[in-house]
Amino acid sequence: MRPLKAFVDQASLRHNLAIVKQLAPRSKIMSVVKANGYGHGLINAAHGLNDSDGFAVLTLNEAIDLREHGFEQDILLLEGAFESYEISIAAKMRFNLVVHNLHQLQMIEKLKLNRPLDIHFKINTGMNRLGFSPQEAKEILKTLQNKSYFKSITLMTHFATADEHRGVDWQLTVFDDIAQHFNFARSVANSASIVNFKKTHLDWVRPGIMLYGASPIMGQKSSSLKIKPAMQLKSKIIAIQNLSKDDSVGYGETFKAKNDMRIAVVACGYADGYPRHAPTGTPVYVEGKKTSTVGRVSMDMLYIDVTDIPHASISSDVELWGEHVPVDEVAEKAGTVGYELLCAISASKRVPIEIIHG
Ligand SMILES: *Cc1c(COP(=O)(O)O)cnc(C)c1O
Repeated sequence: MRPLKAFVDQASLRHNLAIVKQLAPRSKIMSVVKANGYGHGLINAAHGLNDSDGFAVLTLNEAIDLREHGFEQDILLLEGAFESYEISIAAKMRFNLVVHNLHQLQMIEKLKLNRPLDIHFKINTGMNRLGFSPQEAKEILKTLQNKSYFKSITLMTHFATADEHRGVDWQLTVFDDIAQHFNFARSVANSASIVNFKKTHLDWVRPGIMLYGASPIMGQKSSSLKIKPAMQLKSKIIAIQNLSKDDSVGYGETFKAKNDMRIAVVACGYADGYPRHAPTGTPVYVEGKKTSTVGRVSMDMLYIDVTDIPHASISSDVELWGEHVPVDEVAEKAGTVGYELLCAISASKRVPIEIIHG
């Protein structure tokens, strides 16, 4: 069997959840497990994060999958219903729906539900992605307060720059201006906001990336947040090539040896979700040492420099990211973020996931 595998460590997920609890002790935790648990497998992630008060997913099928695996917590559909039938199922299965536009509200009204709904009413406070405008929100909320088809209303918004210099105040002010007029629960904080802004913790927090052990803040190491990587992406060396000065490796001769070199070929490529844009010099870990990639990543393979690691040979384990190589370091080299790399592994559907219980 091809040696590439993603190991998902449930103890790390539990540990990271405990860190969120320490940071936001008075808030309920809605763990975000969209995109197949950020690539870790939806059910694997939910098991590791079982101490959460709720889970947030994207699709109805994910929500049903969680219920069918016995998760009784609140389950929030982050974009709400796309079609009317999803609302009836959500009411029946006690899923909490985001309502972010009038179209969704009208679908709900038309249904004449006999079981009331829990909704997260989303306000657009400046990200301009989803949500009612602040003016609209205030007017509509007044009319929703006494509607019998809502069991609970939680006000939510999402921050565009919680990880950047501009921070969250410019959006939080807009949100508070509306929220203060109502006695509804409030949910605003993603991972970056949980780490950076205590005042955003409120009734719920919605951590995603930090639960998986990657940093929500560019330039801030995950280790400085005391979170642990939940995924180890590992493969093995499948060939060794000895290069002389001026030999190149891989497509396009993007890397030329300056001296004699030993190069190892590793079973992992961009079709697995490893970023093709990772340049020469992207870190990897083999035989107890950090080294780096050379040349262009191929579809199914990549190349690493093992000139100074004589123990490295065919069948040696290689960590592409995980405990010794933070996924954020690989992401930064490739000009992206840890989020994208973690998701890409499961999106490729080529990398088996193995759970480490404990
Ligand atoms: C994905 C998502 C989150 C989690 O964001 P992280 O940056 O991964 O913590 C929170 N809220 C909403 C609405 C999201 O879509």
